[in-house]
Amino acid sequence: MTERSSHPAPTPQMKLTFLGAVDGVTGSRHLVDTGERQILLDCGLFQGFKQQRERNWLFPEALRGLDAVVLSHAHVDHSGWLPALVKHGFRGPIHASPATCDLAAVLLLDSAHLQEEDARRANRLGYSKHAKALPLYTKADARRAITQFVPLPPGRELKIGASRIHLTPVGHLLGACAVRLEHRGMRVLFSGDVGRSDDLLMPPPQPPESADVVLVESTYGNREHVLEDSAARLAAIVTDAAARGGSVVLPAFAVGRAQALLLVLQRLRAAGRIARELPIFLDSPMAIEATTLYRQHGKLLRVKPREVTTLMDGVRIVADAAASMRLTVARFPRVIISASGMATGGRVLHHLKALAPDERNSIVFAGFQVGGSRGARLVAGERETRIHGESVPVRAAVHHLRGFSAHADRPELLQWLRGLRGEAPQRTYVVHGEPEAADTLRQAIEHELGWRQVRVPQQGETVAL
Ligand SMILES: [Zn+2]
Repeated sequence: MTERSSHPAPTPQMKLTFLGAVDGVTGSRHLVDTGERQILLDCGLFQGFKQQRERNWLFPEALRGLDAVVLSHAHVDHSGWLPALVKHGFRGPIHASPATCDLAAVLLLDSAHLQEEDARRANRLGYSKHAKALPLYTKADARRAITQFVPLPPGRELKIGASRIHLTPVGHLLGACAVRLEHRGMRVLFSGDVGRSDDLLMPPPQPPESADVVLVESTYGNREHVLEDSAARLAAIVTDAAARGGSVVLPAFAVGRAQALLLVLQRLRAAGRIARELPIFLDSPMAIEATTLYRQHGKLLRVKPREVTTLMDGVRIVADAAASMRLTVARFPRVIISASGMATGGRVLHHLKALAPDERNSIVFAGFQVGGSRGARLVAGERETRIHGESVPVRAAVHHLRGFSAHADRPELLQWLRGLRGEAPQRTYVVHGEPEAADTLRQAIEHELGWRQVRVPQQGETVAL
């Protein structure tokens, strides 16, 4: 990596470096060097395959002179490396929409907790390959990062040196926005994650602002969402499992997905499509906190405020870990919503360990599962999984509800890009996708939108703007 400097070249040359989410969907980090300031768009954690996760331990030299961070949204693959950045000495502002600041605070503390817990467990059980497993960062690092948040309401303009930053809501998740950075006439637009036109909770994405350079996500760049009635499928899964005397466990992202699942379950219950007496447990302190934030920022949602306030009605809250363990050993039919969403950590692992070996139970994954994650492997049909160093047979039925995706599919991504104001951008970089998804979207942008210079960048690549 080149040395980045406190001595800018005579004519400041704007550069863009892709530091993550270019050969996968995690670790979203794009560095804009305006020649005067270094601004990082997103600061995500790498997840999934081990070779991706190992990158979390590296500090890119390009970030040495960083001035500010701007977050598109709170998901950990876009925000979860912030405590590590702060641990490495970053003391600058972290700008994001007010709802993103609130959600990210919850997510970062949880992420730190998981890092600490994993290290502790590895040390206790001795399955770390290292002499002593250390957490990537601690809760203290996360708390410090949170103090550096500076809210930027969408529609308002922020100045960082000569650069102007502007956020536009894109659905997807409470507070999620596209980021536009304008510097001396050069306009860079970063999509963040684009939501769906018919999301359960979020309104459709707003059209993007005009731009010279576009960075667009491609999570579902090679897919079209099947028109599936997720509510009907969930009703059938829950009813069938209960009839067998089994339980349903829903590994769910605590922020966004858990609220969407609660909304659907409440609607199914109200309509009598699942038994009213079937207990529903929300076993995730973070999901409970996030639900409170969804209520507080209810104006940003498409759901009526009254329905948002009833999300938790009749839902049994599992607050502490001891109650969670008791729930694990109970044998009556129930629905358990617990994090994490791809079963990579958290309390849901105890439930999977207890429920997966019994064929009467059902495990339901909702939404995208990152390659290499336990969720992806189970959805692909793996019949044995290792949890906390133990082998667990999977005899329960495993379902995948794709309809719960919070990501635009290819037609929706193209529709969003089509809405870009003004002329077509000079250059487009397709990021945040598995290689096939990114390349398929690249071709679609060229062929269907007729845009030129569309590329999938390389990890670590720097381009001059
Ligand atoms: Zn996201």
